Amino acid sequence: MTTPNLFDTHAHLHFPEFAGDLDAVLQRARSAGVTGILTIGTDVATSRAAVALAAREPDVWAAVGIHPHDAASADEAALVDIERLASAARVVAIGETGLDFFRNLADRDTQERAFRSQLALARRVGKPVVVHCRDAHEETLALLASEGVHETGGVMHCFSGDVGIARRCLDLGLVLSLAGPVTYPKPGALPEVARMVPADKLVVETDCPFLPPQGFRGKRNEPAHVAITAGRVAELRGEPLADLAERMSANARALFRL
Ligand SMILES: [Zn+2]
Ligand SMILES: [Zn+2]
Repeated sequence: MTTPNLFDTHAHLHFPEFAGDLDAVLQRARSAGVTGILTIGTDVATSRAAVALAAREPDVWAAVGIHPHDAASADEAALVDIERLASAARVVAIGETGLDFFRNLADRDTQERAFRSQLALARRVGKPVVVHCRDAHEETLALLASEGVHETGGVMHCFSGDVGIARRCLDLGLVLSLAGPVTYPKPGALPEVARMVPADKLVVETDCPFLPPQGFRGKRNEPAHVAITAGRVAELRGEPLADLAERMSANARALFRL
């Protein structure tokens, strides 16, 4: 059996969890068929680290942005830094940005302001957005619509909504990304979502080092494990993994214009 062609659309490879063995992590990903990884910044420092890593590895690209948890740091100077980083080589998206009303590590107004600024930045630089949304679907969808996300395109990362929310994301022109939770014994609406998303609008991710799929829960996640999530999605859709993986990788490359 040949290995599937996989693309991990959301990883944090430059986080300290990988500092000790990144080469081995990348090697395992390549052996598992992962041909591309997007490593995602969450503030200015990690965005800078993501850009540096992407410059070193031929199959890693970077997204630069400020996470809703770090929204309080998104002052004018930080946004200028992000905009400057956005034009660096191999930066293919803005994010992650969005709203997180589950943990509420920054207050809501601050999160909304940072999100809006980064959506405007994405339009200026002409790059798609990587959207983080937790317990804030109505507010996130409203901002995406009012800030014209259809102009830049983007991905709803670690999708956690139901079929109705999925449909509204698709109507905005977004791609949906499924992560480890679709493999869990209590996946909520995710199996239904995995079946309803059109093949050309679906991608997968690890969000590593977080959110390991079933079988690795409680451990550090890594890009090689995207194969488990893709395998589960293929099973749910009743499609051969090789075909679906190929398709999802093509979707990722189209979205990030690789
Ligand atoms: Zn996220
Ligand atoms: Zn993330």
